[in-house]
Amino acid sequence: MDMQTSFLDRLFDSGLLIDTGVDGLYGRSGQFEDVITAFERLIDKFGGADGAEAIRFPPGMNRAFFEKSGYMKSFPQLAGTVHSFCGNELDHMSLLKCMEVGEDWTKDQEATDIVLTPAACYPLYPTVAKRGALPDGGALFDLQSYCFRHEPSKDPARQQLFRMREYVCMGTDKHVTDFRQSWMDRGVEMMKAVGLDVTIDVANDPFFGRAGKMLANNQRDQNLKFELLIPITSTAKPTACMSFNYHQDAFGAKWGLNFADGSVAHTACVGFGLERIALALFHTHGLDVKEWPESVRKALWG
Ligand code: ATP
Ligand code: ZN
Ligand code: MG
Repeated sequence: MDMQTSFLDRLFDSGLLIDTGVDGLYGRSGQFEDVITAFERLIDKFGGADGAEAIRFPPGMNRAFFEKSGYMKSFPQLAGTVHSFCGNELDHMSLLKCMEVGEDWTKDQEATDIVLTPAACYPLYPTVAKRGALPDGGALFDLQSYCFRHEPSKDPARQQLFRMREYVCMGTDKHVTDFRQSWMDRGVEMMKAVGLDVTIDVANDPFFGRAGKMLANNQRDQNLKFELLIPITSTAKPTACMSFNYHQDAFGAKWGLNFADGSVAHTACVGFGLERIALALFHTHGLDVKEWPESVRKALWG
């Protein structure tokens, strides 16, 4: 049995995660959720004075916005769409027949107007663009959403439905890169406060296919993405628990995020992988929260 399976099994045995029969799709215990709630309070403590506008979207987004985002160009392998039965009574009968004989009953399902949210910030850009010109001082948002990515795995840190807390900053080049840097510093400080070992490294997104390799290299060369890594299932290959992304003016241009003078805004987003942070805490301090170091308990629960 490899290390990953055994940490997942220990999480199941302790009841912190609940097996659903699908890799990467888990229930969470009250204790697990309590850790996430406490960590989000810590995030609020670090980011609360910045005056971000809080918005909560459900875990599905407008399919038209998803299409415009270009997600299918970059990450078709990860996307999840919501399809529904839209037929008549006859279609219904053949659907039930299909199920009865174990044939594919899903092939006649039709796409709805909803796509599962791939990252918490995706629904935000078109929402803000619709408001009109950005204030000259820029804008800051506080988001949290369940996100879907089709990447089934036995690694408990790679889930198909997980939560991302994000801060998104829109403004000038300098404004949003300063924002990103300040969260890299805060991220290190926060993780230290809860007794986690961190490193920060340049990173890239898993762009699909051969053309994707070039996009990934370009992203790295330009330092557009950094990750804060913490050991969860391997010390040699620590897991990304936060990411710090600078989009330059790509999203601003795509969505029409402009200042009053017509110039295009730059954007950056900082994401916390909430399940991964909880798992890093359980991996580092043990599965019994009562046994965690006093300093860590104090940082989380006061
Ligand atoms: P990885 O390289 O591990 O796949 P990522 O680069 O895809 O991570 P982002 O797209 O930057 O991650 O997402 C923001 C944060 O969401 C990550 O830093 C991570 O903490 C978390 N995250 C990403 N994918 C998953 C997943 N499959 N399960 C749980 N958390 C995830
Ligand atoms: Zn984002
Ligand atoms: Mg990924």
